Amino acid sequence: MQAPMAVAPLLSILPEANFATFSSDVCCAALQATSLRDQVLYPFSAGYNESATSYFATNAQLSPWCIVQPYSAEDVSIAVSTLVQADESQCRFAVRSGGHTPGAGVANIEQGITIDLSMMNSTTYHEDKGIASILPGARWESVYTALDPYGVTVPGGRSGKVGVGGFLLGGGNSFYTARVGFACDNVENFEIVLASGSIINANRTSHPDLHKALKGGSNNFGVVTRFDLKTLPLDLLWGGLVVYDNSTTAQQIAAAVDFTDNLHTDPYAHWIGTWRYSSDTDANIIAHALEYTKPVPNAPPFREFAKIANISDTTRLDTIGNLAAELDLPQGYRNIFTTGTYLNNPQVLEKAIALHNANIEKAKASAKSASWNMNILIQPWPKLFWEHSQAKGGNVLGLDRFDENLVQLLFYYTWAHPTDDPLFQPLATTILSDLNAHAQSLAAHNEFIYLDYADTSQDPLAGYGEDNGRFLRKVAQKFDPHAVFQERVPGFKLG
Ligand SMILES: Cc1cc2nc3c(=O)[nH]c(=O)nc-3n(C[C@H](O)[C@H](O)[C@H](O)COP(=O)(O)OP(=O)(O)OC[C@H]3O[C@@H](n4cnc5c(N)ncnc54)[C@H](O)[C@@H]3O)c2cc1C
Repeated sequence: MQAPMAVAPLLSILPEANFATFSSDVCCAALQATSLRDQVLYPFSAGYNESATSYFATNAQLSPWCIVQPYSAEDVSIAVSTLVQADESQCRFAVRSGGHTPGAGVANIEQGITIDLSMMNSTTYHEDKGIASILPGARWESVYTALDPYGVTVPGGRSGKVGVGGFLLGGGNSFYTARVGFACDNVENFEIVLASGSIINANRTSHPDLHKALKGGSNNFGVVTRFDLKTLPLDLLWGGLVVYDNSTTAQQIAAAVDFTDNLHTDPYAHWIGTWRYSSDTDANIIAHALEYTKPVPNAPPFREFAKIANISDTTRLDTIGNLAAELDLPQGYRNIFTTGTYLNNPQVLEKAIALHNANIEKAKASAKSASWNMNILIQPWPKLFWEHSQAKGGNVLGLDRFDENLVQLLFYYTWAHPTDDPLFQPLATTILSDLNAHAQSLAAHNEFIYLDYADTSQDPLAGYGEDNGRFLRKVAQKFDPHAVFQERVPGFKLG
């Protein structure tokens, strides 16, 4: 491939030993030589610092050679095709929307360029079609605000600040999953920039294979520049946070198993269970998010939780935006997520919480950070979810090969100081392997790994099953024949 005119002379004069500097100069200079010149941000500039420090987890804040901020699909096309052609294809680049993935180097890069989509953040409602066109750099709070005047909403993040792009490309569990399937199942059309720079649309009639692959396939095919989502009528929701004493764990587990097994009888209900220790308060508590997507207080699905005495309760009728704001989590800590999927079996949940409590004691003995938190989130993952997916044309998550109600567990640890990385990171990975081993002994382990919650040590795409793996590799080969998105763009890759 030809290097652009502006950088070609450099190619012949710089010695190989200076490869990093050489590539950083050449790749960023290639972007600088395009119409994007004013959108290329360099270290130590205010714009670069703002973008680089806006990742949810501080450990995901890396130092790319430069950051480019496109404003349109055409800008993304110029950025991608320039980086693919520059420096004889040595330019590596990351793609970032909301930057909420805790894993370092999933949506960011050290030795390369980050394409930061956060300037592409508008939401447009097409009333005649009932479709919301959402740009990838939007945060869900802005999507809900934009759609509110039209009396519609979309299945989106349950924390308002989560980004649109990564959430939708990994599946997306919303308050509405039991009613409409995963958020990705509701994407009628993806506009995407391929490695060639072409801008195409993938939907049921145009490139249907790519349409399906993008429902769970993450950044393996191109840069998605617009999501057209089917909307839902907007009601006020009932919901909030209910806090309980940790001594109620046994009742909570029984209630959780009951809730998951009966969700199909009333899919308006939604529950996120959290067992949480905070060093700030030295309190080990249970904090459930209970939500109902109709304005009905205390609906029957929550009956078992309602029998348990609580410490505090914020449930009320409210907007989706306010309920999602209540679930926002503090930014600016070091984070790790690890995740596993299990049968809806009380013994698995009991073991998970016992391991969690043991980990808290280990952390108390060694943590140096002034402030740290350890959470397990337990979420229903019933068969009903993928029955909706199937009815809407299917996705690549591969859940349809399972016939049981499942639960999704997320181990989520946060701490202030990098000196605690060697403490919390192994605690989060070993609790997962210990729980997996226990679940396997009960024949209650499931191989699905939810990509939106996965750690960089995990391989979520392998958890989609062999058929989907083959399908994804075929689609990647067709739309990205030179494997740019496999080899030069970090993230969760096809094996
Ligand atoms: C506080 C918090 C709350 C959360 N709540 C939920 C929830 O309610 N439900 C749920 O299912 N998950 C939830 N998650 C997980 C969340 O869905 C993922 O972290 C998701 O990746 C966030 O999207 P993002 O745009 O911020 O991703 P980013 O971190 O920007 O990107 C994630 C991955 O997607 C790729 N990517 C992003 N945009 C594009 C694009 N336009 N084209 C191609 N590739 C792209 C990136 O390259 C990267 O590999 C939550 C996470 C946090 C930290």
